[in-house]
Amino acid sequence: MKIDLLTIFPEFFGQVFDFGIIRRAKLAGIVEINVYDLREFATDKHKMTDDRPFGGGDGMVMKPEPIFAAVESLLGTCDRDAYPKGAKVVLLSPQGHPLKQSRVRDLAETVDRMVILCGRYEGIDERVNEALVTDEISIGDYVLSGGEPAAVVLVDAMVRLLPEALGSETSAENDSFSNGLLDCPHYTRPAEFRGMKVPEVLLNGNHAEIESWRRQKALEKTKKFRKDLLEGANGECG
Ligand code: SAM
Repeated sequence: MKIDLLTIFPEFFGQVFDFGIIRRAKLAGIVEINVYDLREFATDKHKMTDDRPFGGGDGMVMKPEPIFAAVESLLGTCDRDAYPKGAKVVLLSPQGHPLKQSRVRDLAETVDRMVILCGRYEGIDERVNEALVTDEISIGDYVLSGGEPAAVVLVDAMVRLLPEALGSETSAENDSFSNGLLDCPHYTRPAEFRGMKVPEVLLNGNHAEIESWRRQKALEKTKKFRKDLLEGANGECG
């Protein structure tokens, strides 16, 4: 997958993709991540990327021209119907579809190329949304000061689900949300720490009992924190 990030703060991304799974995926050629400064695509001599809102009101709005120029340069067209196969232009916005693990999985499985627009100020001129954007995505019901942290969330969640990104030692199969439940609790050595003991069942080597305990704990945790997920829960936890 090739991911292009469009931002007015390219420095924000610094080393954020240079750790753990994302770093390994980059080194293995599973993903390529490029960060572009939107100002480079501004056409006026002051390299303006924002302007005052029509109709008045507070704040600034990101101008359409640099974004259209950037998408045209990256995808070869500003015609959404003519984007290369498997390409998406994602706008991060609190007004978008809330991001869920199922959507992340779908994107990881179907998208080869993604241009991600990071908004700032009051947001982006709506004509960008109307003409260029294929997916408007929110990472949650709260308002960030910019799309950059949301882009990190989206990229991280997607890249770890790309084939081979997790490596053989770990799997996303039993992660929270993958089977409709939250994950079960995990323990490691020592078996007793400051008087707190690891549940006996995890030490006895009986895989059927361990599986059943994990499923039970996942259900309990989901019931406690995310009752809304329980409708449709179907899988195993382990
Ligand atoms: N006026 C906008 C509104 O109320 O919907 C909020 C703009 S916000 C201050 C600036 C930028 O941060 C947005 O354009 C978007 O790119 C990003 N952003 C803020 N909250 C977000 C969220 N929950 N999910 C994704 N992006 C978000």
